[in-house]
Formats: sequence, structure tokens, C-alpha cells
Amino acid sequence: MPTSPRRRARLASSLALALGTAVALLPAAPAGARPAGDTLFTDQGNSGYQVRVYDVTMDYQPLTNRATARVLVRARAARTLDSFHLDFSGPRVTEVLVDGVAARHRRTGAHELVVTPAEPVRRGRFTVAVSWRGEPPEHTDADGSTEGWVRTSDGAVALGEPVGAMTWLPSNNTPGDKARFRYAITVPTGYEVAANGDLVGRDESATSTTWRWDARDPMATYLAMVAIGQFDVHESTTTSLDGRTIPIWSFTDPTTGSAAEARAALPEIIAFNERLFGPYPFTSAGLVVDDARVGYALETQTRAFYPPGAATTSTVVHEVAHQWVGNAVTLTDWHDIWLAEGFAVYAEWLYAAEHGGPRPGQRFDALYARPASDDLWSPAPTRFTDSADLFGEPVYLRGAMTLHALRQRVGDDDFFAILRAWVRRHDDANVRTRDLVRLSERVSGEELSGLFREWLVRDGKPRGY
Ligand SMILES: [Zn+2]
Repeated sequence: MPTSPRRRARLASSLALALGTAVALLPAAPAGARPAGDTLFTDQGNSGYQVRVYDVTMDYQPLTNRATARVLVRARAARTLDSFHLDFSGPRVTEVLVDGVAARHRRTGAHELVVTPAEPVRRGRFTVAVSWRGEPPEHTDADGSTEGWVRTSDGAVALGEPVGAMTWLPSNNTPGDKARFRYAITVPTGYEVAANGDLVGRDESATSTTWRWDARDPMATYLAMVAIGQFDVHESTTTSLDGRTIPIWSFTDPTTGSAAEARAALPEIIAFNERLFGPYPFTSAGLVVDDARVGYALETQTRAFYPPGAATTSTVVHEVAHQWVGNAVTLTDWHDIWLAEGFAVYAEWLYAAEHGGPRPGQRFDALYARPASDDLWSPAPTRFTDSADLFGEPVYLRGAMTLHALRQRVGDDDFFAILRAWVRRHDDANVRTRDLVRLSERVSGEELSGLFREWLVRDGKPRGY
């Protein structure tokens, strides 16, 4: 997600609130704790299992925004489970089956679906199928922005950063648990369905079409996307750095334009990011432009989402960069979101510099000239306590400055080697900031914990690099 004017506008007040509170030390994760223990969204994610696959089957009616859905969750239990939780704030649950057998279920809190199987689930593989029916809700974030199942003029789009996937997907809704996603979504004839991954089938009947998408590479729930409406569908291909043919499927709402420039630029922008981060990490690409009333673009995996007018060159560079940094290599804990946003902003800076814009050093210097009282310096990028600060300037801009400070310290050769090694080493996996510190030290042979602490942890303006 890039900083949006709306999020920027909201920043001043949320930062003022955050500054008024003592910045707490991050709680240390207990030894052996599973990733579900997110330190920002402590009520999201569930312990005891990890998801392998979400199989989403849905029948959607655009005129009423109502759906009938069945989500088959293929998971692996870490231990025997007498009961377990899924995150779900969606409509009425009509049935839950565990390994094909009816299970008791109840809703608690704002978004807990508690499942008690007839027999305890034993350690190892199991399935839970959740059926629901009704109109999925939107979700309003702490910064006032809208996500979740967002209705449009001719359908809906599902956007899930940071937590909105739970409005339609019963899930382990935390970025540390990535899974394969398969979708089979049926809509009336004349409507189209975009989602993540590869378009593997379009089964047409007299009155409806079932669109089948397969996102084989592991994906965090916050990157899951479904867009339903009357779209123009654009198909093309590009060739990846390692010689693969990458199909490009783009879906644009014709009432918002055709996004022709962004679509034309996509292969070159993918190639630019491949030179930075290595071969394109997925098996297909594309973009979606739809008239959802949201004030941001989002790097939904393989196929980023843009509201009308948002698919500018710098934003497309940002969302495409996220396919490597954020999507293929994913934060484990939301306090490490700078690992996605700082890198994507730095990719924007590098791209602009290659196309006649200012050099990253000029950007850095201009930002560093801001006074010590500027909102850019507090809270430090990993030290916010309010989820409204997830998309603030410290995460984005001070995050990108952190990478530039690292580059100044280790030199260009080691810096760009670190970027490529980062993705090669952690592709399809989850990371924390300490993994980047270790990798940077290994590649450069330098002690760098002080630099990262100064830029990411210490509140206030860093003392240079
Ligand atoms: Zn972003």
C-alpha cells in the first residue's frame, strides 16, 4: 500500500495521540511461540494449527451483494485440539465440518469462530469446512479507512490489509501463517471475477460463470483479493528474468478508464524490480482497477488493486516491488511492516532516479533536513503502538531512509547483494527485522545492529549514518 493523501491527512492527529503516550517496549515473544502471537493485533491469529490451503467456493449475486460460500481450510494441527478458533466477522455460519463430520461452532467477541469437533483433532493434517450465507461486511480501520468486503457500483472487492480478510474468509488471520489459495467463484453471466494467482478455468452455464483462480505460492491472508464486477479483461504475457512466460491478467472497470498506461508499463516495471530483487517470484501478474470507495492502492498478491486514478507510475512501481518485498518475503509481525513499505518506497526512489528524477541521496537529504520536531521521526518505524500508525511516514519514509543509510554504510555492491539475497533466502517465507540485520552483517562483514537500532528503534531523529 502506498501512503495515500487520505492516510497522510489523517497522520497528524494520530501521531499527536501516539506522541502523548509512552512508547512501550515491544513484548518479547515467548520461546517457541507460534507466529499467531502478533504484537500489534493481539486478538488476530490462532494457535495450535497452521493452514496449508484455503479452498474458497462462492456463489455471489452482484445486485444484492449477498453470497453463499464454503471455505475449506486444509490445515496441520501442531498438537491435539479439543477445539480451535478461526477469525471470522462475516455473515451467518450455516455449517462447520471437521474432517467431513459436523462440528459445534459458536461466535464470540467481534470476530472469533470457535469450533469444537465431535472428536479431538489429532496432530497432523485435518480439514475444516465453514459454510456461510449473507452479505459480508466492510471493516473500518483505526485510521478510518475501509477494507474488508467493499461493495462497488456493480459488485464488490475484497481487500484485507491489515485485518479485513476475516469479513469473508474464516481464517488464521495473521501474516505469519501463509497458505495456498484456490477460488471457484460463480457469478451471473456478464460479470467477471478477478482474484490472486493463475486463471485456471472459466466454466460457463446458461446463466452463470464459475471463475477458477489458483494462487499456488504461499500467501498471507491480508494479500487475498477478490474483485467482482463488469470488467474489461486484458490478457498478455511477459518473460521473467529466468526465462519463464508470465501470463498477465488485468481487470479494469470501464467506467473508470482503461488504465492503458499502467498496463503498458507493467512488463518494464516488473523487469526493473527483477534487476533489484531477482526473478519475478510468482507465476502470473496483472492489475485490477475498480471503483471501490477506498483511498489507497494495495499490493494484493500477483495482481495489485488500484482505485480509479491511482495507477500512476510511482504507485505501480511500489505495488509491483511489494510482490518481492511483502508478498514473497512477508513480515511475521505487523510491527515489522517497514520491511514491506520501506523497501517498496526505496524501489520507487531507485526507479525515479533511473528515469530523470532525483537520486535517492537527494531524497534522503531533503527528508533529513526536516527538524527534529517533525512527525517523520516519531514514533520510530518499529515502535508505534497505535495501528493507525501502520501506514504513517515513519514506516514508509524513515523506513526507506533506513535502507539508504545501510547502503551508505556498506556500499553499493554489498547493498544490492543484500537485496537479492534477502529475497532468494526468504522467498515464500516470513521474516523479522533481525533477519535483515543478520543477513546484512553476513554479506558486508560489518557490525550493523547499532545502525538499525538508531534508524528503526530509537525514537527521535537519527544521528546520521
Ligand atoms: Zn506499500
